[in-house]
Amino acid sequence: MVGLILRCMEAAAAKDSQEDRIVVMKFGGTSVAGPEEIKRAAARIVAARESGDRVVAVLSARGKTTDELVAAAYEISDRPDPREMDMLLSTGERVSCALCAMAIHDMGHHAISLTGSQAGIVTDSSHTKARIMEVKADRIREALGDEQIVLVAGFQGVSTDSRDVTTLGRGGSDTTAVAIAAALGASVCEIYTDVTGVFSADPRIVPDARKLPVVSYEEMLEMSAAGAKVLQLRSVEYARNNDVPIHCRSSFEDVPGTLVLPESETMERPIVTAVTHSTGESRVTVVGVRDEPGVAGRIFGALAEANVNVDVIIQNEPVGDNALADLSFTVDRDDLQTAVDVIDGLGDISNSIRTDEQIGKVSIVGAGMRSHPGVAAKVFEVMGDKRINIEMISTSPIKISCVIPADQVPEAVKGLHGAFGLGEDATFPEDPTGEHRPTVKP
Ligand code: ASP
Ligand code: MG
Repeated sequence: MVGLILRCMEAAAAKDSQEDRIVVMKFGGTSVAGPEEIKRAAARIVAARESGDRVVAVLSARGKTTDELVAAAYEISDRPDPREMDMLLSTGERVSCALCAMAIHDMGHHAISLTGSQAGIVTDSSHTKARIMEVKADRIREALGDEQIVLVAGFQGVSTDSRDVTTLGRGGSDTTAVAIAAALGASVCEIYTDVTGVFSADPRIVPDARKLPVVSYEEMLEMSAAGAKVLQLRSVEYARNNDVPIHCRSSFEDVPGTLVLPESETMERPIVTAVTHSTGESRVTVVGVRDEPGVAGRIFGALAEANVNVDVIIQNEPVGDNALADLSFTVDRDDLQTAVDVIDGLGDISNSIRTDEQIGKVSIVGAGMRSHPGVAAKVFEVMGDKRINIEMISTSPIKISCVIPADQVPEAVKGLHGAFGLGEDATFPEDPTGEHRPTVKP
């Protein structure tokens, strides 16, 4: 672990041997919630600067600000205009940055706050879910060159097409931070949050869950997609595509957190690294779908057009002549209404649509699963022993997910965490280089 951090530092030192190294530090909503937290974040930023690093800090909106702004919009309108929603939501992050700049000034340092647009975050024009197309980091570089600490409002950018302010989807400040780190060639992108790292399961459900010293990009991608809230999915994808090392750590305690790195640097992986869960998804079942070519393409094409992300999909060949198929898929609960509207809009495609507003999902993730048979069987045995009915199953080479009743999720998470021996007593063998790697008990 320490070895890995040192290696990141050395690589960075070699890269910027002529200059100071650049670090990007991102602070989440709870880390800037009130004046005390903002001052604490400012002190962390100043300490990094005083150690010789050039610092760009990306801040989220304070506490529940974004939720409150969303609620304010719905108090006014049932269908707030997405462009205006972005104007509204982008203010939260700006408040944090301006206040933090003031705190840094009082500590005797130079700091400048920038909106996403001023920082050169260029996105497409898909309001409330925009994707970063490019980071034009000249202004940040100039400010760093002038010995400034740069504070960038997370979660937002500007579309060059429409010249409008956009936001990047909930949790999007993580992606802002990673994108800036990539553009600047930063040594590390540190994500400061209210937990000390990425855990083998949610510690609120599994008290003996342990902090993982390192996970691979692939594992983190699966974990974020399966419901882990630590990092926005898109930020992990961006980090993987651009080789940005991420360090998730606590803004309240000065201890090493979890490194997210390329698999080649994570050494030997355990069979199962973590159990992840979610209760934030809904299921749509399209009943009586015509069994002919092109139908699935029309359904999922229309959903993609409407920017709805689909997760687990299940359909089987209907039995018997002229039989109709049932097609089920899961979506984020926020997208449920849009998904239903989209399929309704396709007219004659099916007999009816059924929805389950809240479903539960548990997943196990581990890069070592690729080469180990029997992992799925063990998952299903655990569910059987706990009398949990599995409603849908989906797999990738390094993940197994089960859709189950939402109220049985905690039971399933505990059962799987125990069955795969992921608890505190799991071993961390010392290796000759001094790097710890998590392994599963034999
Ligand atoms: N403030 C935004 C949110 O609550 C973005 C972020 O925090 O990353 O989703
Ligand atoms: Mg967040």
